[in-house]
Amino acid sequence: MDFSGKVSIVTGASQGIGEAIALDLAKNGAETILVDIQKQKLDMVTGKIKDKGGKAFAFEADVTDTAQITSLMEKLVQDHGAIHHLVNNAGITRDSLLMRMKEEEWDSVLEVNLKGVFNFSRALIRHMIRNRYGRIVNISSVVGLTGNPGQTNYSASKAGVLGFTKSLAREVASRGITVNAIAPGFIATAMTENLPEEIQKQFLSVIPVGRFGTPNEVAQTVRFLLSEEASYITGQVININGGMFM
Ligand code: NAP
Repeated sequence: MDFSGKVSIVTGASQGIGEAIALDLAKNGAETILVDIQKQKLDMVTGKIKDKGGKAFAFEADVTDTAQITSLMEKLVQDHGAIHHLVNNAGITRDSLLMRMKEEEWDSVLEVNLKGVFNFSRALIRHMIRNRYGRIVNISSVVGLTGNPGQTNYSASKAGVLGFTKSLAREVASRGITVNAIAPGFIATAMTENLPEEIQKQFLSVIPVGRFGTPNEVAQTVRFLLSEEASYITGQVININGGMFM
């Protein structure tokens, strides 16, 4: 797949799945714009891309800050002329049983995981409609489909992303824009490595493939959904979970 001439935005791009997506898109020729809340980590990733001759730009921003994201997107459209791809990947967990969950834990997860998707998508959708072209991929989660004890906030946010994806896909399909979601299962990243060994073992026991997924395995599917080859795929949820949920 050749993404030369294409401009891609990836949120939460300084580590884990977002980093893998950004590296993969840049490797395939896209001008890649990386957004994350911590500039230092972002600069390390853009450094890796530039070392390999790729084009990367880093922006420190909080996906929950509507005003900041709106003006950043205006600037990026002006600077780059066109934005073709948006990958809404930034996400957090604040796990707790509902009876102990603090309001702040509920609000912060919904703000980052769901409002962040709204902020970026709304800020770019007029531009994509004008261009009659766009590809949006939202990173949801298997627990948005199955639920998970201790994750009412996270599951609700990720199920919300699926509803958002399907509704927006219907709104913009006739304008050459596709909107899809990926629902990863257990992917080995910082988000999952801190889970107690017991919980990791429990997850492993219900994954038919018998191992955790890698960030690259998610990145490769994102690349496909952003490509010309995927132009007839919209409003879909692609599961990448080693068979954990079928
Ligand atoms: P990760 O390693 O924690 O990376 C998430 C990135 O998002 C981090 O760099 C984080 O920055 C950034 N971020 C958090 N809040 C932000 C904000 N307000 N504004 C901008 N950036 C922000 O997580 P991951 O495992 O790669 O997960 C990536 C996505 O996949 C998430 O949406 C996650 O829910 C989803 N997912 C992951 C798994 C899995 O098994 N790993 C499974 C299903 C779905 P800081 O580190 O500085 O906070």
